[in-house]
Amino acid sequence: MYRTDTTNKNKNINYNKKMKKCPECKANMIEKRSKTPDGISYEYFKCPKCKEEIVDMKQLHEVARKYRIMKKYHVKLTKWGLSYGLRIPQDIIKRDKLSKNKNLIIIPEEVGFRVIPEIY
Ligand SMILES: [Zn+2]
Repeated sequence: MYRTDTTNKNKNINYNKKMKKCPECKANMIEKRSKTPDGISYEYFKCPKCKEEIVDMKQLHEVARKYRIMKKYHVKLTKWGLSYGLRIPQDIIKRDKLSKNKNLIIIPEEVGFRVIPEIY
């Protein structure tokens, strides 16, 4: 079952690759690979006819995901009573506008967990 799903997904990607039309001249665009100045590889579409280059949403999200992974932090757990605490780096505190007594939500993932500010 899982294998079948994977095959179909790959087929869709190939299909999209072939069907990407240039918004300028309607020619079929070619998917290419390049690197950002930070060394993050990314994919984009280039028109062989008018040289137009575009990055679609899927490609953009993939670059954003790679940047997030690059900016990872290493922290150590400390024991607080029966629980454990982790220090949140100052960069994250500033970026997410966190402050003392801010409520956070822990969402268990398949591996590890996600911590997000409670905003609603
Ligand atoms: Zn074009």
